[in-house]
Amino acid sequence: MSNALLSDRINALEESATIGMAKKARELASKGIEVINLSFGEPDFQTPQHIKDAAKEAIDKGKTFYTPVPGIPELRNAIVGKLKKDNGLEYKAENIIVSTGAKQSIANAILCLVNPGDEVVIYAPYWVSYSELVKLAGGVPKLVSGDLNSDFKAPISELKKAITSKTKIVMFSSPCNPTGSVFSESELKEMAEEIVKHPNIFVIADEIYEHINFGEKHVSIASFPGMMERTVLVNGVSKGFAMTGWRIGFMAAPKWIADACDKLQGQVTSGTCSIAQWAAVAAFTQDLAPTYEMNKAFLRRRDLCYALLKEIPGLKVNLPKGAFYFFFDVKAYFGKSAPDGTKINTANDLCMYLLNEAHASLVTGEAFGADDYVRMSFAASDENLKKAIGNLKAAFAKLS
Ligand code: PMP
Ligand code: GLU
Repeated sequence: MSNALLSDRINALEESATIGMAKKARELASKGIEVINLSFGEPDFQTPQHIKDAAKEAIDKGKTFYTPVPGIPELRNAIVGKLKKDNGLEYKAENIIVSTGAKQSIANAILCLVNPGDEVVIYAPYWVSYSELVKLAGGVPKLVSGDLNSDFKAPISELKKAITSKTKIVMFSSPCNPTGSVFSESELKEMAEEIVKHPNIFVIADEIYEHINFGEKHVSIASFPGMMERTVLVNGVSKGFAMTGWRIGFMAAPKWIADACDKLQGQVTSGTCSIAQWAAVAAFTQDLAPTYEMNKAFLRRRDLCYALLKEIPGLKVNLPKGAFYFFFDVKAYFGKSAPDGTKINTANDLCMYLLNEAHASLVTGEAFGADDYVRMSFAASDENLKKAIGNLKAAFAKLS
């Protein structure tokens, strides 16, 4: 038996590099090697207590049955309230589809909108799963790229150039994984003004890092004229409420797209976990103070890491405005060799070397559409960050 018997669809799909690297880090840890995991993007904080309590209450009240596929009405209404309060957007519950994470919401939107051959313009560097999900749907990813000098934001002229008669979707995350860049209100307005010129183009706006933001006001592209009817806004609780394991995400979309995703989800997964949905009601309707506290800690860690990373010769380091990732340029190290003679030709070679030598796991930029870069999550304790960056500095110094 061999992979040749698997579907072409799955054989063409890459493993998620973020998840792959986290797996490698766990493997080393199981051999007794202490690895500092800076490859997996998840808050290291506990879910706030009032959210845990809501989940316990849901269990005690017997909320253990299948839920409606698009989510319990209480949660869909809570999300409508959140979108009004935080984003100034007027949706109805019928526009909201709750899913098993923002990842599923993105997959739903792509599978419901993309036909084979359709083009999807992706702002690069982009989150690993975007291009693979587009390919899974038979679509063609078209990258518009920015680099460190442009704060990783492709100019509007690049978007204009990338749009063709086959373009179906434009997608991006802001705050961005992997770069931490945040599109400003005027940048989003410019993008919206271009997109409304094309009646058959939709936007997937991934706003999962909305609450992890160090200054720039969070604006949703859905708030510009003509955009609500062509935007699939994706968000969730994983990052802002430290709830990665609860698996709750949502989309807010025009009803006809929401209905399509409801149909798809009804065949694939059904409604997500009932207990997690009740926990998410508490997240969206109660106090945001714990979220703001976490944001403060992320900002402190960003500044700590920035100062330390700047001391590593050859690295070109960005200053993230949101999310919890550094995305640094490591090109200066390509062509160098490790003390055992191993040649470092790519960002992936470098990540493997750093994993083994510095016992810190990072993710290669190749997975995010940016070959000269490496992503480092700073969602870790101050001690671990200091230790990891110290180890990285020593490991970089051994390359010659
Ligand atoms: N979008 C981006 C940009 C992310 O970083 C993540 C984190 N994995 C997701 C979506 C998916 O989040 P969730 O845990 O809600 O599936
Ligand atoms: N969003 C996180 C990351 O980029 C979690 C891993 C994943 O779901 O891919 O690392």
